Order: sequence, then C-alpha cells, then structure tokens
Amino acid sequence: MNVSIELDHPNVTFTNGDTIYGRVVVYCPNTTIVVSKITASLTGETKSFMIDTTGLFMNHREEEKHCIVKESQVLLPNWNRGDNTRVESLKLGFGYHRFEFALKLPWFPECPTCPPNSPIFNDGIRNFGPSRLPPSMENLASGADSSYRIDVAVTTYKNMFKSTTRKSTRIAVWPSDTSPESTSGIPPQSFPSTTSAVASILAPPDTPTTLNAGNTMQLLPARSEPTRIIITAKFPQDFHISTGSARNIAMRLTTKRLNNSRHSLYLSSFQLLLFGYTDILAGSASRGQMSCWTLQSLSNLDRELPLDDDPDIECDIDPALWREKCVPETAVPTFDACNMGRRYEVEILLGLQCRHAGKTGRVSVVQLRVPVRIGSGLVSGRRLEAVEPAAAQNRLGTQRESVPRQMSSMNGFVEKEEFPAPPTYEEAMKEPSER
Ligand SMILES: [Zn+2]
Repeated sequence: MNVSIELDHPNVTFTNGDTIYGRVVVYCPNTTIVVSKITASLTGETKSFMIDTTGLFMNHREEEKHCIVKESQVLLPNWNRGDNTRVESLKLGFGYHRFEFALKLPWFPECPTCPPNSPIFNDGIRNFGPSRLPPSMENLASGADSSYRIDVAVTTYKNMFKSTTRKSTRIAVWPSDTSPESTSGIPPQSFPSTTSAVASILAPPDTPTTLNAGNTMQLLPARSEPTRIIITAKFPQDFHISTGSARNIAMRLTTKRLNNSRHSLYLSSFQLLLFGYTDILAGSASRGQMSCWTLQSLSNLDRELPLDDDPDIECDIDPALWREKCVPETAVPTFDACNMGRRYEVEILLGLQCRHAGKTGRVSVVQLRVPVRIGSGLVSGRRLEAVEPAAAQNRLGTQRESVPRQMSSMNGFVEKEEFPAPPTYEEAMKEPSER
C-alpha cells in the first residue's frame, strides 16, 4: 500500500481564511486492504533555537516551539449521509482510492501553550498587540523557522495487525494584507507614514574677490548662503501594492525650500535600500539578525530637483526613479509571533549638488530612514480566484459545505454500494479491467 497527498493548488501561497482542498490517495497494489482510520491535519509552528555560549563549561542550547495552527479532520470513520449509518472501516480493492479533505486556515494564530492575550515578540521585546499568521519562513535567519504542513495518517488492518502510514507535505502560507484595497487606489497625498530630513546644500564657491590691502593681494574665497531644504518621505501603512503578485513600492518623496537661497539643486545619485530585521527569542536568550536589499541604485543622474521658490509649496520628486522596483519575494511580510518577529526599515540616500552661474558645488548625501511594514500582496481568497475563477466560490465556501462532496466520493469506494455516487473522472477513465 502506498499513501500520498494531492493538493488542488500545490503551488499557491495560501493565506488566512483560505481552505486547502486536497485528497489522501491510497494505492492498493493487489490484495484487499481494510482501512479503519484516515485523518488529515494542518499544523503551523514557529520554532526558534539558539546556542548560549556564555556558560563556563558547555554551550547550552535554548529552544522554543509554538504550535500556532492546528486543524484536524477525520475522513474515516465517518457518517454515511445516505442512511445515516456510521462507516467504521472500508475494504479497498486494487487501484487508487481518494479521500477528499478540506482544511481551513484560521484568521489568527492561536497558541495553546501561551495564555490568551499573552505578549507577543515585537521589536526585540515581548509586547501586547494583535498578531497575524506568521509567514512561512525557512532558512532566512538561522535559528528561526516558521512553517506549515499537512499531515495525513492511514490506519490499516492486515491479518489482524494494525499499522499506520503517515505522509506529510509542506504548504506556503503568508498572512493577507489588512488594507481592504490596494494602495494604488490611495492618493499619495494621504500616505500617513512620514519621515523628514533637513539638509543644507553648500553653494559653489563664488569668483574669488580680490582685495587690495596695502601691498599684499589677498584672495578670499567667498561662499553664498547654503540652500536649506527639507525632504520628506511618505508611505502608506503597509509598504506594498497588492495588485496581483507584484509588490511595488508605494512612496512619495517631496522637497520644500527652507530659506530664500535661489540656487538650483541637482540630484546626482539616488539609492533605495531595504533593511530586514529578524528578532529571535528562545528561552532566556534573544538575538537579532539583519538582511539588506538594494532596491534601486542610480548614479550620474544630473536631474534638476523640483524645488519651488515659495517655501510653502511642496514639490514631488519623480516617482519614476523607483516605479519599476518591487519588494523582493524573499522579503517575508512583517509579523510578530510568540518567539520571533520580523520588521523592516527603508533607507533613502539622495546625492544633492548645488549649481550656480556655471559652477557646481560639492555633493551632499541626504539620508532618510523610515520604519515600514511589508505587506504580502495577498488578499484572502483573491489568489485562488485568479488561479481558478470558476471554482473560486466553492473555495471560499465553509467547511460544512464541503462535507457532502467528501462523503459522496467516499460512498464510491464502499464495496457494497447502497447509494452509488456518480463516478469520479479517474474512475470513468479507468480501463474496465481495473474497475
Ligand atoms: Zn506561543
């Protein structure tokens, strides 16, 4: 006998509220097998570990495991819908036999080992707050692993001996974005998250003034007043745009003059960096890890910075500088869990230069750092709809609605069929000798 798991959407990233449809496939090579129990379960876990090297004699390993999702479904024994009798066991003959399951991902993680409303790990310390499902995260930071899997177990009797065959498959889960619509619908003027930097850009040296003081000639390099500006970066609450799978960067960069220097400023370089921090907690030990992505890097730009003479008028830096850039797929969404968390910062580096009367000043680099939330780009249900539009309504149905479907397919495998169900596609396509 061989047991395997088939998923309706094996390559889809699931999100909270999604139902994962699939089947346990039991293959009987020749003899009849009596199956007494079939179960399918969905498990989500966050595991953290760390080697504490502060001990005098030996390294102590600290470990923490939290089970945040646990959904189970018993596929056999089950109630026969037709006559309300309980099907305790099944005799399976030669061939493939399929038992459908439907496991629903909860909206919020629920950790049985942590009391309700217990603090979650946030920004390096345990905090209180609402939490989302931690995204699947493996090998991103050593010592932090968050994963989801489907386990099935098939218990059989053969010559009075009971044996259980288990199979497991991993699934990808990311939390859905909390914003109801994509940020592309929000005008950049209303982006709420803001950070600003004030910069003084030195003017180029003026033509040296010659002073005749007595017999000696003195050259005095004179500078006019530096141009003082304020640069502001604005972000939506979640740093993403959830159209399809693209995770574009929604950002607004504005400039405003702070003094009445009339020099023009030029943008000579533009860089956009993303820093990701993983905070890990295991027992009494805690640790942080950082990763960095260069989202955009442009040099020798030679673009005039939009700057109005009126200090009350904000001007926008052309968003084309970062428009084509996306948050990389490896940047897992921001989350906080019992024993780990992930947070992000964006760094913007602008190389600015002042020009006046054909002369150029030195390049000053203006730096802005903003804490941002990275969204997943997923909205509950949307991903599966895109994959299979016709089945989307069934996919979004409750678990209760899926029970008849599961029962009918099971009836098909009862050897003494009292309520024959229509054959499945596989059955219909089988050679008559195989049936
Ligand atoms: Zn916990």
